[in-house]
Amino acid sequence: MKSQDLLDQINAQINKCSGCRLCKVRIKAVPGEGPVGSLLAFVGEAPGANEDRSGTPFCGRAGDLLDRLLIMIGVKRSQIWVGNVLKCRPPENRGPMVDEVRACRTYLEKQLELIGPRLVIPLGKFATDHFIPEARISQVKGIPVRSGGFLIYPVYHPAAALRSSAVLAELEKDFKKIPAVLSADPHQFPIVGGSKISENQVSLF
Ligand code: SF4
Repeated sequence: MKSQDLLDQINAQINKCSGCRLCKVRIKAVPGEGPVGSLLAFVGEAPGANEDRSGTPFCGRAGDLLDRLLIMIGVKRSQIWVGNVLKCRPPENRGPMVDEVRACRTYLEKQLELIGPRLVIPLGKFATDHFIPEARISQVKGIPVRSGGFLIYPVYHPAAALRSSAVLAELEKDFKKIPAVLSADPHQFPIVGGSKISENQVSLF
């Protein structure tokens, strides 16, 4: 079976998943969007209210900002994959629980393995911690590292940038560096350990 068909199959599994308590409170699961072979994979924390209603990742104001940042670096939404660590919305905007992430994590692992992005971009603190558990977003954002078989480039979450002009300025600065990171030799970037990504992922290095 082709990788795109396998990715579509995983997305269909997510849409009917009952692997954790969130299946009872979601309106729609949000598997993520984007084709196999996307150069960039953006990963947020979990769907918000708009995403829960639509099943579409990063819609609403944060999604509009993401689109604007992509245009700034000459990239269209259709050329990237975008999704979340957790595929269903936690109620009342609470954070994801450990057992929910544990139940859901295999989906993201399989998706990234099939998509094979050149650069994985965690958006915000939670997603950054998922890929680089020992890191603090304020210290590692805008710095490429190799972890779990991927080149990881954390940036602030667009929703945080909507609340702070200082964060927005940092986010724009880090986005402008993405083309240079993509064209660089990934071997020049440091390896960090302790990734929560499974060991059987396709390795780039
Ligand atoms: S959050 Fe993940 S594990 Fe839980 S129901 Fe949704 S898709 Fe399944």
